[in-house]
Amino acid sequence: MRPLRRFFLSAVLLGSMPWAHAQIDSKGGVGILMPTITSQRWVVDGLAMVRAMDKLGYRPDLKYANDDIATQIAQTEEMLKAGDMKVLVIGAIDGSKLAPVLQKAAEKKIKVIAYDRLIRDTPHVDYYATFDNFQVGVLQGSDIIERLGLDKGKGPFNIELFGGSADDNNAFFFYDGAMSVLKPYIDKGKLVVGSGQIGMDKVSTLRWSGSVARARLTQILDKYYAKQRLDALLSPYDGISMELITAMKKAGYGQGGQPLPVVTGQDAEMPSVRSIIRNEQSSTVFKDNRELAQVVTTMVDAILSGKKPTINDEKTYNNGQKVVPSFLLKPLKVDLENWRAALVTSGYYKADQFR
Ligand code: BGC
Repeated sequence: MRPLRRFFLSAVLLGSMPWAHAQIDSKGGVGILMPTITSQRWVVDGLAMVRAMDKLGYRPDLKYANDDIATQIAQTEEMLKAGDMKVLVIGAIDGSKLAPVLQKAAEKKIKVIAYDRLIRDTPHVDYYATFDNFQVGVLQGSDIIERLGLDKGKGPFNIELFGGSADDNNAFFFYDGAMSVLKPYIDKGKLVVGSGQIGMDKVSTLRWSGSVARARLTQILDKYYAKQRLDALLSPYDGISMELITAMKKAGYGQGGQPLPVVTGQDAEMPSVRSIIRNEQSSTVFKDNRELAQVVTTMVDAILSGKKPTINDEKTYNNGQKVVPSFLLKPLKVDLENWRAALVTSGYYKADQFR
């Protein structure tokens, strides 16, 4: 069984499938729609939400959509049929494809919270809970600058840029945040993008697929790096970082006087934390999804108790129809220096998972 599937199944069993048995006298249904189980973070998010909603006496209904847009729309339709459905919490696959189904939700007076990813082009999204996504990119870009010593005058160095999925609003925030610190060095010629591929139209990775990114990197290495070294990879997400490292090793990096490039990441997924401990991936950005689930739980509870949820941002997230009132959490860079404090002492992982 693939490790993630095994992880998911055991997580489900540990959680004793709380969403499988409807609570007879629940305070109402809360639909939790998550994109995929192929990334550990969404599994953790889903289960944390279920536990929290269950504890407060709501009836959580959790569904994963295999990164397939039609499946997520069908699951949403299905949830709208439940007589007690009160709130939908949606981690969108394609943030622009949910408008028609959310129109139907609005007609039934069901509230909608965009979970981590903004839902675009519809007025029918009530709140958004996420992390400071621009800052995620700033942390990634700054890590490259510090590790290469660009801020101490070193360089020039070669870099290649990888972005997330262009149908995910977050991907643009991550990229823009990273470029806000990298671009000045690119402009000065201290960072050189050997392939010349700059801009989300050239560097995005559909559905955040690691294998798609790896194929692109392999082509770039063949074409532009036969005679020069690649020093850094801006990677937006751990699942991509792991595949990029595989491609680099295949090209002879990581041995014989040819160290791996600086490689960033995001989500503090287990394989990447292990890679950081092995001194391969340089860093990741940890977004404590226990906190995110807690924020969303509090939002749901406030909405359903007739109160106004706490928000801390009313300007950043214009979805094309409205500025969605948001709550933004702080991301944290994690590397060899602080992984234990950030991830183990905090109880996110257990120490023996890294032995
Ligand atoms: C999330 C990231 C995640 C990526 C891929 C983004 O929307 O904010 O945490 O790495 O999707 O799943």
